[in-house]
Amino acid sequence: MNKFEQLGLNESLLKAILDLGFENPSEVQEKAIPLLLEKDTDMVALAQTGTGKTAAFGFPLIQKIDADNRNTQALVLSPTRELCLQITNELKNYAKYEKGINVVAVYGGASITEQARDIKRGAQIIVATPGRMQDMINRGLVNIKNIDYCILDEADEMLNMGFYEDIVSILSDTPDQKSTWLFSATMPQEVARIAKQFMSDPVEITVGAKNSGSATVSHEFYLVNARDRYEALKRLADANPDIFSVVFCRTKRDTQAVAEKLIEDGYSAAALHGDLSQAQRDGVMKSFRGRQIQMLVATDVAARGIDVDNITHVVNYQLPDEIETYNHRSGRTGRAGKLGTSIVIVTKSELRKISSIERIIKQKFEEKTIPSGIEICEIQLLHLATKIKDTEVDHEIDNYLPAINNVLEGLSKEELIKKMVSVEFNRFIAYYKKNRDISTQSGERRERTDSEPREFNNNGAVRYFVNIGSRDNFDWMTLKDYLKETLDLGRDDVFKVDVKEGFSFFNTDPEHTDKVMEVLNNVQLEGRRINVEISKNDGGGRRDHNGRSGGGRSSGGPRREGSGGGSFGPRREGSGGGGFRSDRNSAPREGGGFRSDRNSSAPKREGGFRSSTPRTEGGSSDRAPRRSESFGDSPRPRRPRRD
Ligand code: ADP
Ligand code: MG
Repeated sequence: MNKFEQLGLNESLLKAILDLGFENPSEVQEKAIPLLLEKDTDMVALAQTGTGKTAAFGFPLIQKIDADNRNTQALVLSPTRELCLQITNELKNYAKYEKGINVVAVYGGASITEQARDIKRGAQIIVATPGRMQDMINRGLVNIKNIDYCILDEADEMLNMGFYEDIVSILSDTPDQKSTWLFSATMPQEVARIAKQFMSDPVEITVGAKNSGSATVSHEFYLVNARDRYEALKRLADANPDIFSVVFCRTKRDTQAVAEKLIEDGYSAAALHGDLSQAQRDGVMKSFRGRQIQMLVATDVAARGIDVDNITHVVNYQLPDEIETYNHRSGRTGRAGKLGTSIVIVTKSELRKISSIERIIKQKFEEKTIPSGIEICEIQLLHLATKIKDTEVDHEIDNYLPAINNVLEGLSKEELIKKMVSVEFNRFIAYYKKNRDISTQSGERRERTDSEPREFNNNGAVRYFVNIGSRDNFDWMTLKDYLKETLDLGRDDVFKVDVKEGFSFFNTDPEHTDKVMEVLNNVQLEGRRINVEISKNDGGGRRDHNGRSGGGRSSGGPRREGSGGGSFGPRREGSGGGGFRSDRNSAPREGGGFRSDRNSSAPKREGGFRSSTPRTEGGSSDRAPRRSESFGDSPRPRRPRRD
């Protein structure tokens, strides 16, 4: 029996859930759904962002609504227009096989009369932002005097945004005997006050530790000189070819400037801030969801509540003024059980803020160094090679082969490979040859033991490249465990494990090199030969921060280094403009369940598919390093199965 069935959900919902691809309920769903189905009760549910709160109230709500009655029976309040639309959309999906349920979204910036008309036609569920809802009530356009259910979603964010008065006023317009369900990531005093004031004897559900950051997000900081901030951002992007990220800046001006620079440098980036028109913002969000934008540069307000799946990195280009805001930022990644990384680019004078944040999120940061030019080149090169290997051939191409063969005639396989890869790679080499490395380290946090140039200093350690990575479901911890086991090495013998999508790096001391090469090169992983080579780059080489090894993990959640894991659509150059078809729906959800990768030290393969979006032609320029065609993904199903 399916786990959702056990919660008491009816046939039509189970069918819709099947379509959604949810395999197992999340914890908050498991706790909330049976309670809400069983009786009419008030509820306070606290769970991190990304834990599936929408379905936790949405499934029981749909089941409880009387579809034959056209009156408004439920009101869902949500902080932003973006979330309001998102929830409406989700609820419609849930109600797909339940005939006659109408869900109407009510939010500012769109025609109020049209929304009123939609409601008049019979909307059992209204999903609204507080401001517009208040407006509609004042104008007598809506009647919520007889609703049975009122849901306050993302209550902490609503209150954060100053909607207290509106909420109080709206609630006073609803009947006393309704059920109120409050969902929130955190429980600040104001939320508690609302609960006390407007709820009677609510059932309380808490998932995970209150207030602390998500366990699936790891936190890293990179110390740089203030003038190197932008360069650091670029390198982090280059070192994570599959990055899909939100980059936070403090002001609208910085947001715009950073996005413009990124676009100019050939990254698929766009700005999101309050000075854009609603239509522009919608366009940007659509492109971002469609994965045509890899780096969404945003202000805190504009990005609040964004729920986009599979964001791999949140980048704090600048730290927020309010430390609490950091939690809202990092909550954009690590959602739905996926792993995510929150990166802070920090200058020396801001360093103490890191400690303050650590106290709030109850997790430790890992200090990392900006990858060197050589490291980035190697990552890009291997990424490209992996991509070539994984590319599925569309046999349309066969028609052109004779002509192509003609052109390439006389080249040996070796030459051909070199040339093919160089088409892209020359730019990176040229760029990084010219540019100095920029990493800095914090004396406060760690002793520096070496003063040689970083590039080739490895303190005697040997760095390896191995052809397994996050796509084989490794993160740095599980890979480290796997290597230790396979090689029969001790706790600290494998270090600096850096997991990328299709490959990884790690270090050992030279005395283990023979063993590594011999054993690993003769091991199979799910029928695939493992290939290990000695790498040219040292990955920082040192035994690492805080005297720990292998990436220093000191608390709670799993961490991983580098990128990977997510599913990425094709990229295009210099994006930002709208007008591109966003084939979100054609992409089946990845993974499908709340599988938590960190539990499996035995690597598994997952079978998601890449979203297919058309790509525009990118005119390449010689401004280096520039991403272009070959580094982008071509439209094809993700992850060809080798097994
Ligand atoms: P929250 O409101 O707690 O921040 P959401 O309701 O927005 O989280 O859900 C986050 C993501 O997780 C969404 O993309 C949603 O589709 C997905 N999700 C929710 N429940 C499940 C589930 N049971 N299995 C798989 N994915 C889920
Ligand atoms: Mg939510």
